[in-house]
Amino acid sequence: MTPTPVSGTDVVIIGAGAAGLMCAIEAGKRGRSVLLVDHANKIGKKILMSGGGRCNFTNLDVSAANYLSGNPHFCKSALARYTPFDFLELIDKHQIPYHEKTQSIATGQLFCDHKSADILDMLKAECIAAGVVIKAHANCSNISHITDGGFRLQLEDPDGKQSINTQSLVIATGGLSIPRMGASGFGYKLATQFNIPLIPTRPGLVGLHLDESLQGPLGDLAGQSVTVTVSCSGQSFKESMLFTHKGISGPAILQISSYWQAGDQLEIDLLPDTNLEQLWTEWEGQNTLLSTQLNQHLPKRLVELWLQAFGNRPARQYSVQQRKEIIHSFHHWQPRTSNTDGYKTAEVTLGGINTNAVSSKTFETNQVKDLYFIGEVLDVTGWLGGYNFQWAWASGWCCGQVV
Ligand SMILES: Cc1cc2nc3c(=O)[nH]c(=O)nc-3n(C[C@H](O)[C@H](O)[C@H](O)COP(=O)(O)OP(=O)(O)OC[C@H]3O[C@@H](n4cnc5c(N)ncnc54)[C@H](O)[C@@H]3O)c2cc1C
Repeated sequence: MTPTPVSGTDVVIIGAGAAGLMCAIEAGKRGRSVLLVDHANKIGKKILMSGGGRCNFTNLDVSAANYLSGNPHFCKSALARYTPFDFLELIDKHQIPYHEKTQSIATGQLFCDHKSADILDMLKAECIAAGVVIKAHANCSNISHITDGGFRLQLEDPDGKQSINTQSLVIATGGLSIPRMGASGFGYKLATQFNIPLIPTRPGLVGLHLDESLQGPLGDLAGQSVTVTVSCSGQSFKESMLFTHKGISGPAILQISSYWQAGDQLEIDLLPDTNLEQLWTEWEGQNTLLSTQLNQHLPKRLVELWLQAFGNRPARQYSVQQRKEIIHSFHHWQPRTSNTDGYKTAEVTLGGINTNAVSSKTFETNQVKDLYFIGEVLDVTGWLGGYNFQWAWASGWCCGQVV
């Protein structure tokens, strides 16, 4: 049997997504020999599919308040050291045209004018300039810690099998969202192997299913979009909400889904910019049907459905109690939600590597020297709006300064 060849490198980074690419560039620029591997046939797939093909690559206004984590302070250091403006410098260097999204209530979201591939091409070009070796279709196994420092692992790719010794090992394998794009539980399994604690994972930035009893009646509204304020667990977002066949989605719901857990109650204000109480008083002086009045503020089908329980008459013909109930039903809708759409469509994974086990400055684990975790595999999850990429860039950049 031919022996497996052994080669050595300074840094192996597993996972060539946003965080892994940024880390590789920075370590390479410092003169480190870097091997960046990914098991998927192409690197950076999530970058390519992000932001509807235009990659919402950062946000002008980023702070720890835009992230969920068991330790809300953990992300502060990296976000302060590598800011959205640092990433914009890179974008400007490569002359990538971009814009701030304007047709959204939320501000500061920066997108490529043309395509997400502009970002991936930029990162690849930076990797080449920094001498990074990239291998796709490559699987790592048998990872072991070497007693006097570093790691040994088996790498299998289309060129064959080899055993690699590396001084630093960086895990940038992301979360569980969208398995068909290469997502795997690799980072969590490796953490378990080295007794690094995990926070339970669940899908985030994901559509919600309504209770089955509501799916039938509300299924008729599929495709309708309304601006709402949605609240849950002390957090609120004002954004658009989309009715789907099984429930609700759209930016407002994706945002709140990260705060929602089974059993939690959502509250939705379907008329966040309207004081229905005040309008009703005006309407009482008119002979117009309530549906006609409401149609000026909400989709016709939604109004029709809402008024089924109350009937449709001019405002003044309702009792005080009915008026109260109708107004309450629009401003404080409490739909029963049963589940999420799951990892198949979730944009992110909540939970992951417990940040208490990792340095917020270097991303090295406290227990295992030379082992680093960056990006979404950690228990740090951003809001919708470019925050997740900014976390990937920032954590990758910081780690790249030390490995
Ligand atoms: C549809 C969609 C749209 C999104 N749009 C945006 C957006 O516009 N803005 C934003 O900020 N965020 C967006 N996100 C979230 C964002 O893509 C992620 O938070 C970000 O990509 C995380 O970066 P990462 O490098 O940590 O992980 P990833 O980008 O997921 O990269 C992990 C890499 O590791 C590889 N990998 C996994 N397991 C293994 C293994 N066993 N061996 C080797 N390699 C492995 C994967 O193939 C992948 O290439 C979107 C997500 C989705 C799903």
